[in-house]
Amino acid sequence: MSRPELPTEVDLLVVGSGPVGSAIARRVHEAVPSARILMADLGPRLTGEAGLHLSNLPAQERGELQAKSQGRDPRTAPGEDQALVKKYADRGTHLVAPRHEEQPEQEGMPAAVMSSNVGGMGVHWACTAPRPLDSERVPFLPEEELDAALGVAEDLLSVTQDAFEDTAGGQLVLKTLSELFDGDYPDGRHVQPMPLACTPRSGALPRWAGPDVVLGPLAHGGDGRFGIMADTICRRVLFEDGRAVGAVLQHLPSGTEFKVRARAVAVAADALRTPQLLWASGIRPHALGRYLNDQPKTVSSVQVKDGPAAGIEARGSVDFTGDIRDLETGRFWVPFADPGRTSHGQVMTLDTSPIDGVDPELFVGMVWYGAKEIQASDRVEFSTTEADAYGMPKMTIHYSLTERDREGIARARADQEKIAARLGDFLPGNEPELFPAGSSKHYQGTVRMGAADDGTSVCDSFSRVWGFENLYVGGNGVIPTSTAVNPTLTSVALAVRAAESISALLARENC
Ligand SMILES: Cc1cc2nc3c(=O)[nH]c(=O)nc-3n(C[C@H](O)[C@H](O)[C@H](O)COP(=O)(O)OP(=O)(O)OC[C@H]3O[C@@H](n4cnc5c(N)ncnc54)[C@H](O)[C@@H]3O)c2cc1C
Repeated sequence: MSRPELPTEVDLLVVGSGPVGSAIARRVHEAVPSARILMADLGPRLTGEAGLHLSNLPAQERGELQAKSQGRDPRTAPGEDQALVKKYADRGTHLVAPRHEEQPEQEGMPAAVMSSNVGGMGVHWACTAPRPLDSERVPFLPEEELDAALGVAEDLLSVTQDAFEDTAGGQLVLKTLSELFDGDYPDGRHVQPMPLACTPRSGALPRWAGPDVVLGPLAHGGDGRFGIMADTICRRVLFEDGRAVGAVLQHLPSGTEFKVRARAVAVAADALRTPQLLWASGIRPHALGRYLNDQPKTVSSVQVKDGPAAGIEARGSVDFTGDIRDLETGRFWVPFADPGRTSHGQVMTLDTSPIDGVDPELFVGMVWYGAKEIQASDRVEFSTTEADAYGMPKMTIHYSLTERDREGIARARADQEKIAARLGDFLPGNEPELFPAGSSKHYQGTVRMGAADDGTSVCDSFSRVWGFENLYVGGNGVIPTSTAVNPTLTSVALAVRAAESISALLARENC
């Protein structure tokens, strides 16, 4: 296997090419145009345009690329239950540690997944991108600074509430949700169309925003000062006296290991592998890997009695080969609110009428994510002796629900039952079900941000690792609060702040 040209020195090394690493690269590139930026991702490049969302491709082309993003399969142990693996791992992801039949579903996060490809989970995500509210927000960030960063993140991800055209089915669902829940909210908050990261297209599904959109011109290669190394794992961050000085990278197909020097390093390698890389580098603050926070996920679907169709026919032909998102005609938001509404609800309308043999009525899919009570004991632990399929420290996840979490889940279930009672009936076998821990794919807290270096956090309010001048972390792991909202927008906003800090550092050092 031939090896690519190996860089020896850059200004910024970004590890991980998902939406968060991409946001850091793009913002630093714009602020300090002379900076040489290298982005390394252990997975393959799937498309010419780096980080293109795979749902923008014809359905038939996706399968092979989704399979490529699943990375090296960590399941080497005999006896894994393949049916469970299939049920819990989304297309384009693989399970960290799939469950055996006898393992309780809510312990140890059996459904935790990762993607390993240029663009990360960002080429597969559902693009739901609302803002955090009330206690979901980071309390020690000045309100206006957080709002400004969220605004930039919305621009980077092209977030809109006009993703789908208005349909009679959508209006019925929105009216029903409003009647049921609007009374629970403070002034100004209400059920509404979901903010989604995409560009609407008349008569067609929206164009979904992947990391390609975040990267902007860099997705096509940039101007020679930016490069992406695919299939290249970061094995260790190198540091001296509180300064990251570079990293050890390895081009996986050829096995070539090499060092790159860097003035700043940003690790945005997802909420499980960012702490893994810090651990592997010998950077092990007390909070590393702790406060792991998933969002309990309750799911159901309803078939609407005598309802209007949701309007897919207006789209003309539908390209459907099994991915239900191709049939979506609208998405609505039942927001979080303190106190009481501890879940964030996502309601999709689907109209399957073009499918042979399926009743052409309006279908409504509901997903409720709950805010989890945060515990230091919920954690990912890294082995000092055993390695995973990539030769990095093996992970073991410790995770359990509390009494308060279970009360929140009961409220989520009750919300969905109220909706079903108004609209029609649950589809047989689709009554509200709590999915196994890890199903949300919204893992947070493992490299959390803090107001002070008091042992309960890993980084400061600009995502800089405590004790380091120039080492930054990014991704959902940075979020320190208990949230129910989909986290990517928040993580991109926190990355925008990290990029400001990195840019100031590089500008000071005259890049
Ligand atoms: C099917 C699906 C639907 C989702 N829907 C939503 C949604 O609607 N809304 C929402 O907010 N979130 C959603 N998510 C989650 C969302 O995709 C993540 O929040 C987001 O991608 C996180 O971005 P990231 O850049 O931090 O990490 P990722 O996108 O996971 O990227 C991390 C990258 O780091 C790379 N990496 C890891 N370790 C190393 C290493 N040592 N060296 C080099 N590279 C490394 C990986 O290969 C990967 O490409 C969804 C996820 C999935 C899978």
